[in-house]
Amino acid sequence: MKKLLIFCFGILLSAGLQAQDLYIQTGKLVDTKSGKVLTEKTIIVSEERIKSVENGFVNPKSEKDSVIDLRDKTVLPGLTDMHVHLESETNPQKYMERFINDPVDAAFNSVGFAKTTLMAGFTTVRELGGSGVNIALRDAIDQGKIPGPRIITAGKSLATTGGHADPTNGMNSELTGNPGPKEGVVNGPEDAAKAVRQRYKNGADLIKITATGGVLSVAKSSSNPQFTEEEIRAIVKTANDYDFHVAAHAHGDEGMQRAIRAGVKTIEHGTKMSEETMDLMKEYDAYLVPTITAGKEVTQNAEIENYYPALVVPKAREIGPQIQGMFERAYKRGVGIAFGTDAGVFKHGENAREFVYMTEAGMPAMEAIQSATITAAKILKKENEIGQIAEGFYADIIAVDEDPTENIETLKDVKFVMKEGKIYKK
Ligand SMILES: [Zn+2]
Repeated sequence: MKKLLIFCFGILLSAGLQAQDLYIQTGKLVDTKSGKVLTEKTIIVSEERIKSVENGFVNPKSEKDSVIDLRDKTVLPGLTDMHVHLESETNPQKYMERFINDPVDAAFNSVGFAKTTLMAGFTTVRELGGSGVNIALRDAIDQGKIPGPRIITAGKSLATTGGHADPTNGMNSELTGNPGPKEGVVNGPEDAAKAVRQRYKNGADLIKITATGGVLSVAKSSSNPQFTEEEIRAIVKTANDYDFHVAAHAHGDEGMQRAIRAGVKTIEHGTKMSEETMDLMKEYDAYLVPTITAGKEVTQNAEIENYYPALVVPKAREIGPQIQGMFERAYKRGVGIAFGTDAGVFKHGENAREFVYMTEAGMPAMEAIQSATITAAKILKKENEIGQIAEGFYADIIAVDEDPTENIETLKDVKFVMKEGKIYKK
């Protein structure tokens, strides 16, 4: 009797808890693995994962299950942007914000930016540095408290004293203080190891360094090397202990070479990359994250009076226009490319502009899409979870009106967004 009761209860429980499956009927489906656009498929989604992909338009057998009709759309796996800053967004008052905003202000702002990013079809992002509240943002999204993309975050970037990500750059002597490893400023291998461990303690997922000067910091050089190779080696070595990869912001060639030789996984921007450095990238299996959109944006904003501080304007004019040309040369030379935009330097949600610039520079649309799906997934060690519409993968699914391999602009207007089986836009 007892056995029978347990048996009956078991049936009731499994019937009651059985989640409904979603049958997504798709006119076209971008298969990122084969690089082909398939027609008339049905994706069956069960809870947060893809259960199967069937040929033709399949209807559910059970009444509990439902159909999502995307027969007039092209469906793709959710996109990944490997370089965003979700805590802020460009505006003419941006340089004032660090004097008047508290981290909690950045936190509130980031909630809106995260949602905008998700609604633009980006279901995963690599956050490359803000104050560090992006770690709490990641957790809030993971826990379902707010909508946003899956975040892999560096927390706060690492710099050397006066370097691109030194948080007190350009401030007066009373405010500059003496930031150290805890604040993300390192000098010497010991500081470097300490700063990485501090990021681990804070809850970061990877390490970002500013290997050279940068455009938007209030400092003179856009491109000089700012870490010794020994310091970068110490960072990469310590990062490896925590299964972190390292991303390096770099515009200048010398800083890039040091970073690549020391073992960083991605070079962000890569503006002045020489052919020798491109070959080094291939040798060390490092990837370029181009951020062409940021280049276009700073070039434009530099001509608006008082948009940037005086020290920043010549750097923006110098660096901005060079990125797309460098991307074209690097792509043609066979450097691995991972999609990344530097969103925050321009408006969040406009991430797909990058696809247009990449294809303008000679990359086929399918390869640009693969750089934002399978390549990104591989670098993030999530190649069995995201970047494909296939059995067992997360149900991160987006849809657009046209076939993006015929009209790449269509990616700027995403009509349907699902992340982990939950619909956010339709
Ligand atoms: Zn950036």
